[in-house]
Amino acid sequence: MPTEARREAVAAVMARKPVAAKTGYLEETFKDLWCKNVFGDEEMRKRLPEGAYRSLKACVQHGTSLDPALADLVANAMKDWALSHGATHFTHWFQPMTGLTAEKHDSFVNWDESGRLIMEFSGKALVKGEPDASSFPSGGLRATFEARGYTAWDPTSPAFIRETENGATLCIPTAFCSWTGEALDKKTPLLRSAEALSASAVRMLKLLGDTHVQSVYPTLGAEQEYFLIDRAFAALRPDLLASGRTLFGAKPPKGQELEDHYFGTISPRVIAYMQEVDRELWKLGVPVKTRHNEVAPAQFELAPIFERTTVAADHNMLTMEVLRQVATRHGFTCLLHEKPFSGINGSGKHNNFSMATDYGDNLLEPGNTPAENMRFIVFLTAVLRAVDVHADLLRISVAHAGNDHRLGANEAPPAIISVYLGDQLTDIVQALVSGTAAAETKKSFMALGVSALPKLPRDATDRNRTSPFAFTGNKFEFRAVGSSQSIGTPNIVLNSILADALRHLADGIEAQRAAGASLIDAVQKVVQATLRQHQRIIFNGNGYSQEWQDEAAKRGLPNYRNTVDAVGQWDSAKNRTLFASLNVLTDKEVESRGHIMHEAYCKAVAIEAQSTLGIASSSILPAATRHLATMASAVAAAKPLGLPTSKLEASTRALANGVETLVGAIADLEAASAKADADHGSLTHHAKAYRDVVIPAMNAVRAAADALEDVVDDDLWPLPKYREILFMH
Ligand code: ADP
Ligand code: MG
Repeated sequence: MPTEARREAVAAVMARKPVAAKTGYLEETFKDLWCKNVFGDEEMRKRLPEGAYRSLKACVQHGTSLDPALADLVANAMKDWALSHGATHFTHWFQPMTGLTAEKHDSFVNWDESGRLIMEFSGKALVKGEPDASSFPSGGLRATFEARGYTAWDPTSPAFIRETENGATLCIPTAFCSWTGEALDKKTPLLRSAEALSASAVRMLKLLGDTHVQSVYPTLGAEQEYFLIDRAFAALRPDLLASGRTLFGAKPPKGQELEDHYFGTISPRVIAYMQEVDRELWKLGVPVKTRHNEVAPAQFELAPIFERTTVAADHNMLTMEVLRQVATRHGFTCLLHEKPFSGINGSGKHNNFSMATDYGDNLLEPGNTPAENMRFIVFLTAVLRAVDVHADLLRISVAHAGNDHRLGANEAPPAIISVYLGDQLTDIVQALVSGTAAAETKKSFMALGVSALPKLPRDATDRNRTSPFAFTGNKFEFRAVGSSQSIGTPNIVLNSILADALRHLADGIEAQRAAGASLIDAVQKVVQATLRQHQRIIFNGNGYSQEWQDEAAKRGLPNYRNTVDAVGQWDSAKNRTLFASLNVLTDKEVESRGHIMHEAYCKAVAIEAQSTLGIASSSILPAATRHLATMASAVAAAKPLGLPTSKLEASTRALANGVETLVGAIADLEAASAKADADHGSLTHHAKAYRDVVIPAMNAVRAAADALEDVVDDDLWPLPKYREILFMH
């Protein structure tokens, strides 16, 4: 009986204890753990001949390919290191367009000519792999070309070893491409976009008089939110298992209104889990730094120290994997979905973003010297232009079915993309726009290149939680990214639109210079014109308010309320030109990604609809009818005895009506799903059917079921309730 299962689950949860990590924290300290399983710089230097080590570093720095002899040397060193850690297998580790990671293991074992067993790993196997990976979504790229793709080593991200209960595997970060060179993954365009950004930023810095800079790289610190619930409850929720979120669940008497979870004392089981997560991530070289309870009950967050974006992207994928895997050991299920529970906050992934020079300067750090300030203002101007011109792309980069539950609802940034600068910086922008600053001696800091900017107090810039894109002192925080998504796409977009804006500004400055303007005048003119044109993107007020919706419409800012609206803008001429001109995505690659985004949306909703139907018809309806039968027989038994029944009859009637509503809603959802499935129109048309027909029908089933949850005998209710799932640890 399902109810027994629910009771057993509660008992199992009550009996759980904090789980100790595999090694004690005094036996293996942070110093022992840090990068233990990473084939990093130190290991390479130790294991490679000096010359080989230097050639490899040069290849990585300049993005040139390895010659086969060097590849053999590196492979051999990597294998020896891996074997010393007990690895038997290696895998090319890649990030297909599913948004997940993929791996196919191959052992080092081989036989030599005389039939003896050897452990072997060639340069060829390191550099290139051919997984038979024809079942990954390609968005049509492979229908026209080869069925298979290949993986290519990305030497900019270190190889690592993953230890599991019964062995260890060497993982080699790779890019995944088709035989004709089309990117089939999220990593390749991320690497390309970082290169494009570097080229534009270096060009700009040189224009500004920087004679040292050789390259610029984007930096990223991704704060990761997640929910942790007991596995025993998760196992009884087919909706969580199928779709990662609860499709049913009445509001519990207590939600997050007391704000008693946020930054609260972390419970013993959860802290034991977090500590093991940290330890596992440290071994992999992921620099996790903070951990805390988030706003919603059962919600938590961790944040790493920022790194190069291309490495941070790999590390965030690993972080999500480790969060999930360690959860299982601790009797938890880790939910990374954007909205696992309705009525309480969902989860995001704040994308803290900046750019740094190869000599380590943060390009969004307000400076202390006139030259540094000019640089800061130019890069800030580039960000504003980038976000204004390509607000659509930023919105699209976070658009997927899960995030539709957050964006635009009153807990996450609105679907309108705008930039928060804080009052002080906004004043500076306005002064630059009006050109008044230079004349006013008191505010002479605003004249570019003349004197220092005022110090921007960091906390003064970080308080507007309603902005999707906020300046936080020396970086921007893109807050609309969803907790479950790969940070690949948002950062491909960020890098590309910044490369584009910097290119545009550099063109302008060069033209001014060619016409005889001094550097300061040229920069001042271009900055002023650009800010004047794009200042509409700045908004420091309450992003949740209706006034902002109206004001944004007046300013002409796009407001794509859901995935289907957003994704429909993806392959516009503007966006194709952007990606093609920067060599980030070809037209075909743009098309394929549009395809995949549409498809992923339809599939996610279709799975939810099927799961809703299954649970409603086979679990909830039977429980409700059983309860109705009990109520009806109570009336039937009481009446002949002359007992008062009028109120009981009224509640029985109300219950019967509720059951009728549910049955009707189930039938409607069946019809809606069938209609959407059979829609063979364009991709957009298909997606619209899911959005406009299936989702409302699904919501109606849920509303009917949740209403019943509040009245049906608790002993009969088949699904663990919110009050149990969210509050029992
Ligand atoms: P808070 O958001 O509480 O102010 P921090 O500013 O310390 O916290 O950092 C939040 C996240 O931003 C961290 O992951 C941090 O590493 C990251 N971060 C800090 N500086 C940069 C930067 N220059 N580039 C990218 N991310 C950064
Ligand atoms: Mg933050």
